[in-house]
Amino acid sequence: MNEEKILIVRCGEVALKGMNKPYFERVLVERIKRNLKEFHGVTVKRTEGLIFVRYPHDIAQNKLIHQVGKVFGVSSISPAVESESNMESIAAEAIKFMDENIAAHGTKTFKVEAKRADKAFPIKSPDIARQIGAEVLKGCKVLSVDVHKPDCHLFVDVRRDKTYIYRDKIQGFGGLPLGTNGKGMVLLSGGIDSPVAAWMMAKRGMLIEAIHFHSYPYTSPRAQKKVEELAGIVASYCGRINMSVINLLPIQEEIVKNCPEDETTILVRRFMMRIGERMAEKAGAMMLITGENLGQVASQTAEALVVTDSCVKMPVMRPLIAMDKVDIMDKAKEIGTYEKSIEPYEDCCTVFLPKHPVTKPKLENILASEAKLDVDKLVEEAVNSAENISIYPN
Ligand code: ATP
Ligand code: MG
Repeated sequence: MNEEKILIVRCGEVALKGMNKPYFERVLVERIKRNLKEFHGVTVKRTEGLIFVRYPHDIAQNKLIHQVGKVFGVSSISPAVESESNMESIAAEAIKFMDENIAAHGTKTFKVEAKRADKAFPIKSPDIARQIGAEVLKGCKVLSVDVHKPDCHLFVDVRRDKTYIYRDKIQGFGGLPLGTNGKGMVLLSGGIDSPVAAWMMAKRGMLIEAIHFHSYPYTSPRAQKKVEELAGIVASYCGRINMSVINLLPIQEEIVKNCPEDETTILVRRFMMRIGERMAEKAGAMMLITGENLGQVASQTAEALVVTDSCVKMPVMRPLIAMDKVDIMDKAKEIGTYEKSIEPYEDCCTVFLPKHPVTKPKLENILASEAKLDVDKLVEEAVNSAENISIYPN
């Protein structure tokens, strides 16, 4: 036996995009193909508002589903079988399909859900359901119908040329295909929040580049390795990430030497933003992305965020701003970054951490402190010292 197998892929929100729909669907198909390029003999095509992934039977279905499920814009996936669009063929395939289900899942009860996309098909949906249900009952003796709490739904989707039969709808992440919404520069730490922030923006179609700051030798090479591995997990959703790595220590030392201790964190953050903006411009990114979250720490109070923002012109996206920490943690677990994030390595922000950081910084005080520094030169030197690393999906 060497027959093809099928996954039906649905593209939720992409389908709502009116005039742009063909464009979004084309990008989505390309993204699915890219995520499946390591599998040989797979084809991806869109017809009648659905995307069909066809693959040789020797490829493990769960691996394919896993890879397709990582593509943003995919709302759900159904492993399906195909039949000719006539009642006899549909019934025969449905019986075969249910026999396999009985063997694999011990299915005892079922309910047919029929849909007729082709209105020229001579039988109405409720009648298709009734007739196919009756044939399946005859063909699979162990089964009975349960319209309230069936073990499984048997979906029958009648289209013009072919009919598709399936039971599962595996949820994807939804969102929009990568590359349909510009490029953003994420400030990526080794923490829980910023990888989730990058992931959330990528889910809306944004391409991601990253910048990471360390304070070597106060922070270790192993800490940076951890961030690279974390970025690799994010890259498994959004493709290769260019990451710039910059030593912030020269700037931190200048700040510690010249400025009030309680302003250290906010001053450092403003430098991170400025450097981030410069690197973003170089990379053709139009926004900065951070994992900041209202009120989480001293540097993320409303006042501190305003002072942080005022040193850059570029919009700063903070997709986690209004989330609770537990929800961010749940998201991190769902996308697979959490376990890596909680590995205990030092971060540059914890070097020179003030004992009592200002929680309501005043811009004029911050500007007065920065007047003691050669801000432009420090930023320029940091930008020029950037090391570039390509992060591949792990
Ligand atoms: P995270 O869990 O993302 O580290 P956090 O709650 O620890 O966030 P902070 O350390 O105050 O918060 O950092 C706030 C944001 O600043 C981070 O979400 C990230 O976007 C950015 N950031 C912090 N440290 C670094 C770093 N070493 N390199 C790059 N960006 C950083
Ligand atoms: Mg952090």
